[in-house]
Amino acid sequence: MGGTFDPIHNGHLRTALELQQWLQVAQVRLIPAKLPVHREAPGCTSLQRLEMVRLAVAQEPALAVDAREIESEQPSWSVLTLQSLRAELGPETPICMVMGMDAYMTLPSWHQWQRFLDLCHIIVVTRPGYRFLPEPEIRKFTDRHLTDSRDAVLASPAGRVLLHELTPLAISATQIRDLVAQGLSPRYLVPDAVWQYIQDHGLYGYSQQR
Ligand code: ATP
Ligand code: MG
Repeated sequence: MGGTFDPIHNGHLRTALELQQWLQVAQVRLIPAKLPVHREAPGCTSLQRLEMVRLAVAQEPALAVDAREIESEQPSWSVLTLQSLRAELGPETPICMVMGMDAYMTLPSWHQWQRFLDLCHIIVVTRPGYRFLPEPEIRKFTDRHLTDSRDAVLASPAGRVLLHELTPLAISATQIRDLVAQGLSPRYLVPDAVWQYIQDHGLYGYSQQR
């Protein structure tokens, strides 16, 4: 499961854990993207986003952080990450790329997205506020590859799209950044350790004087 995780929040974490349990896989990996410096939020570096993901999963063995995009010299293109995971896990292991409905509908703008299903399955999770209203290109792609069977996904290394509904949590990182910038607390929307890290490092405009 990739993302900017700016910052990681309970919507990401609960999604990842529910999928791990539903798929009965050993682990879900959270893979923060390295943003070009000009797109980084002021006062929050890639390494800080990575550290917050680390803190968020530290107590949960079913979730892991994967630093390969942030540590790589290459751009954070999913196709490169998938190739690297495929090389690591071998040709037979099923790989699932997890994304919210909002991200899925933007897929045709991703670098070499047509190659993704050669490398992995795509699991799309519902997200409150985003209905499946695809452009024709993504609708055709979905129709061609859709399955509703978890077993079909786990029986092959790549090639299927599965839409999955789970506990709706209308939390976004935008909302967390806005709360902090306004001097309000994001407590209970993010893990306590993440909120503590935001305060300790003065991220997202946090300041104690408020
Ligand atoms: P921002 O508001 O900055 O865009 P975000 O909350 O959307 O942040 P991202 O890092 O952009 O978080 O999202 C990473 C992935 O997690 C995306 O695939 C996104 O669709 C998914 N996701 C984010 N929040 C939720 C949520 N509450 N429920 C389900 N999926 C989510
Ligand atoms: Mg987003």
